[in-house]
Amino acid sequence: MKKLLLIEDNEDNIYLTEYLLQAAGYTVVVARTGGQGLTRALCDTYDLIIMDMQLPDTDGFQVTRELRTRPEMRDTPIVAVTSLAMPGDRKRALDAGCTGYIEKPIDPERFVHQLECAAQGEATDPATGNEP
Ligand code: MN
Repeated sequence: MKKLLLIEDNEDNIYLTEYLLQAAGYTVVVARTGGQGLTRALCDTYDLIIMDMQLPDTDGFQVTRELRTRPEMRDTPIVAVTSLAMPGDRKRALDAGCTGYIEKPIDPERFVHQLECAAQGEATDPATGNEP
């Protein structure tokens, strides 16, 4: 069973993401702020972290940067999931230390597959699922 930390503040996104991940066999722990996400990430071990980049307190870029300063967090995949669709945000997320990147709105049919690809650093085009 894979254990995943979902750092996300939007209840609709939490509901859908948690549902899809649990159906795929993941155990999901939710954090609703950047601060809570940081604490949870450092207090337990996760196979994967999903990071919303827009959070009410510390944004996902900063949380990711802080996590990456910890030796024990160096190898944990962090996948950015964000509605920010500005050119450059993908690079910004990767520069902050994210392993991969998925754009919202998430596609329920493809989300888990996209996530698992992104966790391995394999880029997928959000529109087509193809390599860019
Ligand atoms: Mn958000």
